[in-house]
Amino acid sequence: MTPDETSSNRVLVVDDDVQLIGEYLRCLGEDFEPANATTTLSDLEKVLFGDETNERGAARFEVHSRNRGEAAVAAVEESVKAGKPYSIVFLDIRMPPGIDGIEAARRIRALDPNINVVIVTGSLSPEPENLGKEIPPADRIFFFKKPFHAVECRQLAAALCGKWHADLALRHANDVLEQRVWERTEALHKLAYYDPVTGLPNRLRLTDEFDRIIHEGDGAARDSLLVLLDIERFSFLNETMGYDSGTELLKAIGRRLLRTFDERSSGTGLTISRFGADEFACLIPGIKDNTELQELVERIKTTVEEPFLINGRDLFLKAAIGAAWYPTHGQNAKTVFRCAEAALHRSMRRPDSGITYYHNEMQSTARHRFELETELRQAIENDEIITYFQPQLCLKTGRLAGAEALARWQRPDGTILPPAEFIPLSEEMGISDVLFEAILQRVCDSVRRWRDESGWDIPVSVNLSAHQLRNHDLVGLIQTILEQNKVDRRLINLELTETDLLEDLAIARPVLQDLSRFGVGLHIDDFGTGYSSLSYLAELPVQTLKIDQSFIERLTESKTNERVVQAIVALGKAMQLQVIAEGIETEQQLLLVNEFGCDLAQGFFLGRPMAEPDFLAWCDAVAESTSKHAVLPFVAGREK
Ligand code: C2E
Ligand code: MG
Ligand code: MG
Repeated sequence: MTPDETSSNRVLVVDDDVQLIGEYLRCLGEDFEPANATTTLSDLEKVLFGDETNERGAARFEVHSRNRGEAAVAAVEESVKAGKPYSIVFLDIRMPPGIDGIEAARRIRALDPNINVVIVTGSLSPEPENLGKEIPPADRIFFFKKPFHAVECRQLAAALCGKWHADLALRHANDVLEQRVWERTEALHKLAYYDPVTGLPNRLRLTDEFDRIIHEGDGAARDSLLVLLDIERFSFLNETMGYDSGTELLKAIGRRLLRTFDERSSGTGLTISRFGADEFACLIPGIKDNTELQELVERIKTTVEEPFLINGRDLFLKAAIGAAWYPTHGQNAKTVFRCAEAALHRSMRRPDSGITYYHNEMQSTARHRFELETELRQAIENDEIITYFQPQLCLKTGRLAGAEALARWQRPDGTILPPAEFIPLSEEMGISDVLFEAILQRVCDSVRRWRDESGWDIPVSVNLSAHQLRNHDLVGLIQTILEQNKVDRRLINLELTETDLLEDLAIARPVLQDLSRFGVGLHIDDFGTGYSSLSYLAELPVQTLKIDQSFIERLTESKTNERVVQAIVALGKAMQLQVIAEGIETEQQLLLVNEFGCDLAQGFFLGRPMAEPDFLAWCDAVAESTSKHAVLPFVAGREK
């Protein structure tokens, strides 16, 4: 009920004395003129009622009368039903032979909690305080002493009607407030538990639901499968397709996953959730056996990898998948989730982004990793990270054209760890910048020494990872190190894999431009495995493409493979880029890439990555042997 709906001042007067009823009607009537007219009364009424007063400022009351308690109760009941409740009921205390005013008040109160009840009595019994307790609330029950003065009666009616309206407005405001609080709570609940983009439950909601079905232990939780999936290169897609299409894609993935489990979904606790930017989770309770488990995981992968039609284009996704299940991998949602996450990360590191089922061995891997992390921090401080150098030869001249610096971790026990074992770790630990700095320092120190000691200017390529592109002062850092070591910037090239480059082109583009302006060379590593669109190549200031090793490895297997490499070389040439073939392991491969027009070659066949002293010895030997035998047999008239 809003204040507008009940704006009139409805008053019920109840007395078995017909004369008194007449008196009420007179003093509450619109034409009532007090004997000694003062302005006070109409002023009061004007303040209280505004519009509800007549032109003289007198309040308009709608007065109804009854002469029996029972009739009064019936009138109140009717008024409440009709949505036109009374503001006040004046109740005579004694109305024989029917119920008395107190009983009538009690029944009226039960029907209408807001009405102001005025007990009209010649004596003051029962005690006013007791009455408040007997017929609460105490602020809505009043005594009015008979005989009363007409003005007194009108004043009381005006004041109580005013109070009734004020109470109503307050209740209404409270209702509105309550509704708002409820709506906000609901919205907060949604925010806390649901992903705003897809409307799917988030990680918190998923684990809550998982714990609920585990604790309810109704058997449904037996063998609950948790599958986590990560959409590969989503941020790249998001950027190239536009943010709206990215959002559309996420929604479509959510809808498709839900549809996949349509037949199991009702009331089983099955939950599809989005728990990261491009990460989804499927919680599937009630798995019967291993076969079903595998079938479900594979179904999820195929579901997501079927093309999505976004903006009229077919979009093919790849999903890395990690799976773990209750109770085998943990007794609560959090533990199972952690296991599934470990499995997911394992899949994400695999080149085929396949499916990984969690197994307990991963726990010992995790322990091993923790130890490695601690050691890696110390290794950087103790200069245990060194660089090997692998020669790159110019196919036209047969001369050494440069070298690639490849990081190695030389541990105190003499073992040498390859980069795959610590570079990704350094990235996850957030210390890859420190590592890059240490490596570049070493490289620059070597380059300077080669020049000072032997007069050799050998260009060196240093590998960069996507993490370094996020370092806001990458150019500043490189500049400082080069200047400290007095190394010519033209002797340093930076290699970035195509996949890293495309991971976030918006970030990469300006950094590459700054680096190019600074004067270092930029090479795209492992070219050919990334995104199929090549338009990005034309707009980036790169000088060199390094054909991915996998193409070279398969080169001699078929004519088609040859044509692929030929096409990559032709593409590089068309864009006026230098092309390097890496991973050359046989003479046949070398001859072919030379025939196709590659500029440089790198590989075990020509020279393995070597520790600095071995590399320098290799360079010496090459320089010495140039007159005796050719390093590259097919190079005629090779320059010295
Ligand atoms: P990449 O930059 O493509 O380096 C070439 C990798 O191929 C090297 O492996 C090298 O040893 C290997 N390789 C060279 N010739 C042949 C060959 O004929 N056959 C075969 N099968 N392999 C060959 P490595 O040193 O294990 O490095 C692996 C990757 O680790 C590198 O691939 C690079 O992406 C990364 N990496 C190495 N050093 C660094 C570094 O300092 N920073 C960063 N961010 N990444 C690095
Ligand atoms: Mg490289
Ligand atoms: Mg490479």
